[in-house]
Amino acid sequence: MGSALRTFHFHPRATSRILLAVAAIAWLTMTIAVAQDALPVSPSDPQIATALQRISSSRIQATIERLVSFQTRSTLSAADPAAIAGGHGIGAAREWIKSEFERYSHDCGGCLEVKLDTFTELPGGRIPKATEISNVYAVMKGADPESAKRIVLVTGHYDSRNSDNADISNPAPGANDDGSGTAVSLECARVLSQLKFPATIIFLTVAGEEQGLNGSRHFAQMAKSQGWDIEAALNNDIVGGDRSPQQDTSVVRVFSEGVPTAGTDAELRQIRSLGGESDSPSRQLARYIADVDRTYAPGIKPMLIFRLDRYLRGGDHTSFNEQGYAAVRFTEFREDFNHQHQNVRSENGVEFGDLPKFVNFDYVAMVARLNAATLASLASAPAPPAKVGLLTAKLENDSTLTWDQSPGGRVANYEVVWRATTSPEWEHLQSVENTTRTTIPVSKDNVIFAVRAVDAQGHRSLAVPPLPER
Ligand SMILES: [Zn+2]
Repeated sequence: MGSALRTFHFHPRATSRILLAVAAIAWLTMTIAVAQDALPVSPSDPQIATALQRISSSRIQATIERLVSFQTRSTLSAADPAAIAGGHGIGAAREWIKSEFERYSHDCGGCLEVKLDTFTELPGGRIPKATEISNVYAVMKGADPESAKRIVLVTGHYDSRNSDNADISNPAPGANDDGSGTAVSLECARVLSQLKFPATIIFLTVAGEEQGLNGSRHFAQMAKSQGWDIEAALNNDIVGGDRSPQQDTSVVRVFSEGVPTAGTDAELRQIRSLGGESDSPSRQLARYIADVDRTYAPGIKPMLIFRLDRYLRGGDHTSFNEQGYAAVRFTEFREDFNHQHQNVRSENGVEFGDLPKFVNFDYVAMVARLNAATLASLASAPAPPAKVGLLTAKLENDSTLTWDQSPGGRVANYEVVWRATTSPEWEHLQSVENTTRTTIPVSKDNVIFAVRAVDAQGHRSLAVPPLPER
């Protein structure tokens, strides 16, 4: 042993060999550590954490009760001045939501631009006659001129229905569907408007959902035609946590499409050949929400459902997907179908109707915290890296990724993440300097990669999977 050591000391070539061995062991240990540990939890931003504590279940309760007080919010119901003055029908609901956004704006020194997106839907489908529809929204413009072009958005639908979709006079309280989602949008606006973010946040409430997603379709088409860069749309629809005994209040479902609705034929061919069925922008957003949940622990776990929506059901996130935007749907774990799309009544001791007494306001508050944390994290993060590529010109077992700098100059470093092709969430992470190229000693044929941008405080962008480069 001693003589062997002496030998190493006296032979420079042997010394370099042992150094190489040490380096190899160190590298191997590091690789194994990366491979075996769960991904490190992203750091918490104290400003965001404090804001989440201000989300109030009693505020949410007051919002939902106020929405129910308009008796019906059917998209086809009254919106004339007399009905608005009398406080019934969808017009009165619209005016009240607008006044709420204006109140929040007043409290933040005019930081919100409150707007209506009004259009006339012509007869067809579940629209019996030409109907004026208004989406109500508040824009909190980003504080950084370059980042302000990036938009993250939260939405819920403020229209409601009862057993008959064309009924405009009987009560349609819509406390859960979708007073709850409307309350999430409003509460996120109230709390987040007290902070400043580099990127823009839009707080949206739409109408026409029950008639056929008319409001969200119009809004998403307007966004697309005006070239808005919507990075994420969070749709909350039925997040009331209905108080049925089988409810699980520890989870909220997050639905996301796999194969992108708006994918071109060429994109779909590539997805088929390379196994990209679970890597749409919406799926990356769903994974991002799971990551945010681990950081801020709002008391509720997102249950990622890798499916566009429930069977036979649709929602406003689809309107955004159709325009090529990343969008997901939040919905309570277990819906009680006696408490949605039903006339308020009692039959053989069973209560029907979407009433506030079935809503769990603490649950809605937890969902609102998860939404607010996601919006705030994305609006704080640098833009995702652009043009992420994976070199495929040579046959090799290492993987070289390249990308364009995240625009806006707020990046501190990048992270390459990867996972087994059979795994739902990212499993491995390699942090890399502020560069635009790196090689990972893992075969691209065996895993799925993505790259994300990180700022100096640890805010992460959405992950972007690479396209093959020759
Ligand atoms: Zn709904």
